[in-house]
Amino acid sequence: MESEKNVKYFNDLEFPARKVWMKTYGCQMNYHDSERIMSHLEKLNFSTTEDQEDADLLIFNTCAVRDLANQKFYSHLGETKRLMKNGKEVKVAVGGCIAQTEGKELIQKYPQLDFAFGTDVIDNISEMVFRTYAGDSKFAVNTWDRSSDYSIETKITHGNPQAFINIIKGCDKFCSYCIVPFTRGREKSRKLAEIVKDARRLVEYSGIQEITLLGQNVNSFGKGNGETFAELLYALNEISGLELIRYTTSHPYDVSDELIVAHRDCQRLAPHLHLPVQSGSNTVLQRMLRQYTIEHYLELLEKMRKANPAMVISSDIIAGFPNETEKEHQQTMDLLDKAQFDFIYSYVFSVRRGTKAAKMDDFLTDEIRGRRLREIQAKQLEIQKPLRAQMQGQTYRVLVDGKKTMAGQTQWKGRTPCNRIVHINNLSQHENYLWNWLDVKIESTTALSCQGFSVRSYGRQAPSTL
Ligand code: SF4
Repeated sequence: MESEKNVKYFNDLEFPARKVWMKTYGCQMNYHDSERIMSHLEKLNFSTTEDQEDADLLIFNTCAVRDLANQKFYSHLGETKRLMKNGKEVKVAVGGCIAQTEGKELIQKYPQLDFAFGTDVIDNISEMVFRTYAGDSKFAVNTWDRSSDYSIETKITHGNPQAFINIIKGCDKFCSYCIVPFTRGREKSRKLAEIVKDARRLVEYSGIQEITLLGQNVNSFGKGNGETFAELLYALNEISGLELIRYTTSHPYDVSDELIVAHRDCQRLAPHLHLPVQSGSNTVLQRMLRQYTIEHYLELLEKMRKANPAMVISSDIIAGFPNETEKEHQQTMDLLDKAQFDFIYSYVFSVRRGTKAAKMDDFLTDEIRGRRLREIQAKQLEIQKPLRAQMQGQTYRVLVDGKKTMAGQTQWKGRTPCNRIVHINNLSQHENYLWNWLDVKIESTTALSCQGFSVRSYGRQAPSTL
């Protein structure tokens, strides 16, 4: 119920118009969770602000996977003390992976924190905000949803044609270095029919043209329900008006022959696979508990590229896993040559408390780790350069998703279906091309960027006639 004074009510408590500032760290799952949180808060009369000073409620949606994101969060949280001193009433909340495992400690340790909420309770955010404004404070909610079903409807708060759709949550793999099974819980998939209905609704009523299926391990989808990820892709591929289907992220153990064939058959499916390998050494993979060998991994790439020669493969690599020998590191360098990744995300190993790797003896120094990371990155750039050069002269369909302005000149950009960012050079300075579909011919490339020009414009309608 909304009154004329722009006040909303929740459980009889008055909610005047307020502003929320939200900071999201980490992966796309977290960004999507933030959007979901925002869709709930809108119903409590909150609108977003980019300015912390202007906000009534601050929310940090945290990531526990990488050390850097972790450190940034603690530093940003420390800065909020300054806001408290200005005398304005500001509520502060922490959500996400750190709140799931350390919510209670955070509440005790940081006086400025009002509440903490874990990854499995984000759909209860309204109740928690209500509790705070009703006078309750200093609480942490990090319970798990114990029901066997995972059923949600995708919420979007933006007006653009791209949407993330959660299809599976949690992870059962327990890789020895990874905190995710502890922060996101056990694997649970939505039902295939529910996702297809959700996607159809988004396409028909919200103008969505591109979807990204999300999960820690999307290709493990459906195991508990007798369904498969490939079946889901085939079903989504039938949705008229949907231009592109992307997904992230996958585990090599769960890449089935059926999924490989889906990449041949489904025209709406982006020809891109992000398949984290983590190391080129079988002995390191064993210590990581990754459940595949390099030989198997390379065989998957070969099959994938055979099924669809346009496939572009990217990966993740961890440099300096505990006790990684120089020989094991060299095996990763060799793998880069063999795999010919289009792109990698690479990191030095960092200890995550509570994981098996945290208990391993480790003789590597930060210096060795840093040097190995630099070697991996330099080698990958050498590999990427000729791969990108092959794009020159080719035409790709691109959805324009942003621009940069330098020295008064605007340059629009977008992503190819195979996930390469392209900057477009020949568009009018005076028109708005955001969310337009274009065919873009690539004229020049470097190891990290592609420049092209538009050869055909389709406006904002998905151009596919499938
Ligand atoms: S597959 Fe391994 S690395 Fe990926 S989320 Fe699960 S435990 Fe973490």
